[in-house]
Amino acid sequence: PAMLGILGGGQLGSMFTVAAKTMGYRVTVLDPDANAPAARFADVHLCAPYNDAEALKTLAETCAAVTTEFENVNADAMRTLAQKTRVSPSGDCVAIAQDRIVEKGWINKAGLPTAPYLAIESVEEIQVDLTPYLPGILKTARLGYDGKGQVRVKTADEARAAYADLGGQACVLEKMLDLQLEVSAIVTRTSPAQVAVFPVAENRHAGGILDVSIVPARIAPALAAQAQQMAKTLAEALDYVGVLAVEFFVLADDTLVVNEIAPRPHNSGHYTLDACLTDQFQQQVRAMCDLLPGRTDLLSPAVMVNLLGDSWREDGGEPNWAVLAEAPNVHLHLYGKQQARAGRKMGHYTVLSADADAALEQAEALKDTL
Ligand code: ATP
Ligand code: MG
Ligand code: MG
Repeated sequence: PAMLGILGGGQLGSMFTVAAKTMGYRVTVLDPDANAPAARFADVHLCAPYNDAEALKTLAETCAAVTTEFENVNADAMRTLAQKTRVSPSGDCVAIAQDRIVEKGWINKAGLPTAPYLAIESVEEIQVDLTPYLPGILKTARLGYDGKGQVRVKTADEARAAYADLGGQACVLEKMLDLQLEVSAIVTRTSPAQVAVFPVAENRHAGGILDVSIVPARIAPALAAQAQQMAKTLAEALDYVGVLAVEFFVLADDTLVVNEIAPRPHNSGHYTLDACLTDQFQQQVRAMCDLLPGRTDLLSPAVMVNLLGDSWREDGGEPNWAVLAEAPNVHLHLYGKQQARAGRKMGHYTVLSADADAALEQAEALKDTL
């Protein structure tokens, strides 16, 4: 069987590896951590830095196709790999998603709305009138995730002080919008311009980290269809090949604004593992192997709950899994990470029920008893 390669062996790489193995491929994982979750399932674990020239050469020479699990992969490494093997998503698309200034530029160029924002690449650029963006959020252009690298500011003075505190690196100042809720749409586009979008998820965050995804999102069907169409439009504009997650804000007046994109399967798409005809990791395999995307039908309403290290006891003791095991409509996924730390994604569970509200109620009750 063909060998597939992935840069990164965290939980996304791990779930990708399981999907690829199940579909009959072999998998090589590049990750510097000897205990990387994906190493449990991979045929080959290249235990080396992500930019290790020898390891990248091995990937290029032994893999029929290569993908990535994380956003901040070196885009040049992806471009170099692409000279020898099939790479998806492309280094160019990954580079766009890595920089909020470039990303928002592409979103607007595709004709889609973002929050009003000011790109700040040097200290002069924050000396303008900031009132259109206040109160706002100052976000570093690069390397932010789970709400890291973000400062909420009310006044121009606060914004300028926060910019200095962030070391004067490139940032965007984004107007704080009044959110009704947040949703995401995950689109798969394969090279023959075949496109499939998963059902829209409604996402709730806690402390800047995704907490719960509710599917189907409790919004008007026409609005959900619009989010799906916008995700397709973006994938088309980027000539994207692979799985692309698009995060949206739903404003008080029922309009959609694109928040950001992720060039990979997404935490808010983990429900697809248990609730869809094809899951988002199978789609990643299909896209990288130039197969048609699978059907994305929702088989059951679902609620996914993230399990962060916070739920572990201080002595490292695990939550009471029995309460999940005893619920016959719940699937538990643990990522095999050795150290539980506050804010670290350790696993998730998905509750499947006849309707989303019932699933949510049960999901919350279960969380309280863990
Ligand atoms: P991720 O882990 O999803 O990559 P991130 O660190 O890149 O997150 P964002 O998605 O930009 O951060 O923002 C995190 C959260 O902060 C959003 O999901 C939303 O709840 C809130 N937020 C961000 N920007 C705005 C805004 N302009 N107005 C209102 N809320 C916002
Ligand atoms: Mg992000
Ligand atoms: Mg986000």
